[in-house]
Amino acid sequence: MKGIERKGISDIPEPAGELGAMKDKPLFVIQKHDASNLHYDFRMEVNGVLRSWVLPKGPSIKPGERRLAIPVEDHPIGYADFEGRIPEGQYGAGTVIVWDRGTYSSLKEHPDVATALEEGHLDIWLEGEKLKGGFALIRTGSGEKPRWLLVKMRDEEASATWDPLSSKPRSVLSGKTIEEMRDVSGDDHVPGTMDC
Ligand code: MN
Repeated sequence: MKGIERKGISDIPEPAGELGAMKDKPLFVIQKHDASNLHYDFRMEVNGVLRSWVLPKGPSIKPGERRLAIPVEDHPIGYADFEGRIPEGQYGAGTVIVWDRGTYSSLKEHPDVATALEEGHLDIWLEGEKLKGGFALIRTGSGEKPRWLLVKMRDEEASATWDPLSSKPRSVLSGKTIEEMRDVSGDDHVPGTMDC
């Protein structure tokens, strides 16, 4: 994770644990976005940008349950930290919280992530604060506006009964709900015009 200071610890024997394993893993983030429609944005770091999909109903951890994922334009990596208000008149106007954030790894060595996305089927393992385990991202349509599905794999992190969207609605950065974030006034963190 970004905040971990690694300088000067190279001489300290590291257990083969999380810090060592995490350092090279790319980021993923899920932002809850109360715009004209409430939705979630799933973004994953691929080759220096955040590839992005809108999840109209958010992610599901029910094994095999399909959630529509609509691809949208890439975002800069720095956007993974953004939460706050997007002013009226700007694209995506509304309120954003970082609902979940962590790292991911591809479940297959080949092809690489960019190639797998190109081919329309990526299997990943998420290590978020809320979402964990295997997910498949599958393209189902073709043409100019392809549709994708985000599907939780059947593993020990799946649950048929527990819904993290309703059970854990708060930001992993600020602890705020999206309503609390919306009511914060004088937010000076404005992300610019790019959003969806
Ligand atoms: Mn959005």
